[in-house]
Amino acid sequence: MASVGNKILSLGTKIVAVGRNYAAHAKELGAALSEEPVLFLKPTSSYVQNGGTIEIPHSMESLVYEAELGIVVGKKARDVPQNSAMDFVAGYALGLDMTAKEMQNAAKAAGLPWTLSKGQDTFTPIGDFVHKSAVADPHNLELWLKVDDVLKQKGSTKDMIFKIPYLVSHISSYMTLFEGDVILTGTPQGAGPVKAGQKISAGITGLTDIHFDVQKRAKPISS
Ligand code: MG
Repeated sequence: MASVGNKILSLGTKIVAVGRNYAAHAKELGAALSEEPVLFLKPTSSYVQNGGTIEIPHSMESLVYEAELGIVVGKKARDVPQNSAMDFVAGYALGLDMTAKEMQNAAKAAGLPWTLSKGQDTFTPIGDFVHKSAVADPHNLELWLKVDDVLKQKGSTKDMIFKIPYLVSHISSYMTLFEGDVILTGTPQGAGPVKAGQKISAGITGLTDIHFDVQKRAKPISS
């Protein structure tokens, strides 16, 4: 997997990402809200550690950023009920869910998977692990994101539609979660494009922040 500085994150087997978990972001996508969370997987090889470089694929002009609260799983979880779900949470990490939007739009139109549009190398910038003891209420955290020092995203995890105990319970009823797995809980409004030469900073106010350069990946995709 990609290098991550945090031991617990290096143990993870998968990143489970939640789509459309904030009404305001679903609205800017023009997407309907779902009865159940929209889930997709990102490989752990897509991690890039805080301070690293986000790579834009050779053929593309930009990627879309989404700042998201990551739940870090603390122990094996299968069929976990909501009322004990928080026992399976070790803590949190701030992640960016990067998307190759043209690829994703083409995949959506064709009814094809989002794997390449969401899962390429460096498409999951990730911050340091924050132990849950440092977080009084994970449903009352302010998330922000800046591109070149211009504020682009600001939202609160209190606006998440599907809350953390529900997500852990729901996901664990389909796939076993393991120590170090990360659930990216969706992004508030303000997702947008970033280009080569720009810098992204994001944070959870009072807890953690992350900083990345954005550069073009020079190597063309072989065919
Ligand atoms: Mg997302």
